[in-house]
Amino acid sequence: MCKRKLAALIVLLYTTVLLSQGPTQFHPGFNLFSKDQDVQLGKESAAQVRKQMPVVRDPVLSEYVSRVGRRLADSQEARASGFPFTFEVVADPSINAFALPGGPMFIHTGLLKAVDNEAQLAGVMGHEMSHVILRHGTNQASKAQLIQLPALLAGQVAGGSMLGRLAQAGIGLGANSVLLKFSRGAESQADLMGSHLMAEGGYNPMQMARFFEKLNSQGGSRTLEFLSDHPNPGNRERAIEEEADRLPQRNYSFQTGAFDRMKQAVAQIHEPPPRRRE
Ligand SMILES: [Zn+2]
Repeated sequence: MCKRKLAALIVLLYTTVLLSQGPTQFHPGFNLFSKDQDVQLGKESAAQVRKQMPVVRDPVLSEYVSRVGRRLADSQEARASGFPFTFEVVADPSINAFALPGGPMFIHTGLLKAVDNEAQLAGVMGHEMSHVILRHGTNQASKAQLIQLPALLAGQVAGGSMLGRLAQAGIGLGANSVLLKFSRGAESQADLMGSHLMAEGGYNPMQMARFFEKLNSQGGSRTLEFLSDHPNPGNRERAIEEEADRLPQRNYSFQTGAFDRMKQAVAQIHEPPPRRRE
């Protein structure tokens, strides 16, 4: 075979491989915690959050975030994780949301006020849910406290406080907590897996990229909080777009139909000044 034909064949094979490549597969990394321990840690941490942050009990808002959240939690990767996801709204003007190990998610009213459409909210929630599925919080804690953790976790007795034990290793929910502030590698994974969860739920993954773009261009302390907890892994929008292209063709027209009602309800919520988690 002449060189030119060979080169053409190689290009053809390469293109075929690229085109037949499905969505990126992800698996949780190194972890000293069991999945049950993720769940317990999340439950205890959520109880602490509810004491420290003003949880909004508005039925319209609670129902709305739960509907969007359940849509994402119905996706294959979320179901396979087996984690019990829950969704709550907290009155905080900063544009942010956070999810604790094992599933509890908290959405700031500032985020609900900032999104232009439901798919953008689904994008942030899908991103957060992916951190839970990929166990990034306890993965980071495991890597940071490799020496102390095995003994602390082994000594964990049923019914005892896990947060109390972990505090001995300096692991808590405070500002810059390893459980809630992620590496760029983890961010990239959460972006891409988040796009899978969105697509399966009928939301266009590109809206996640659009929303991050919007945050980037706005700047200011209210928007910086999300980007500080979830640093841009670089070329964020392009990477999400490329991953979206690898997903099977779907119809991205799902909507709960309650977006406008949510916007009216959240406009009535007056937030106290933003508070960092303690
Ligand atoms: Zn993130």
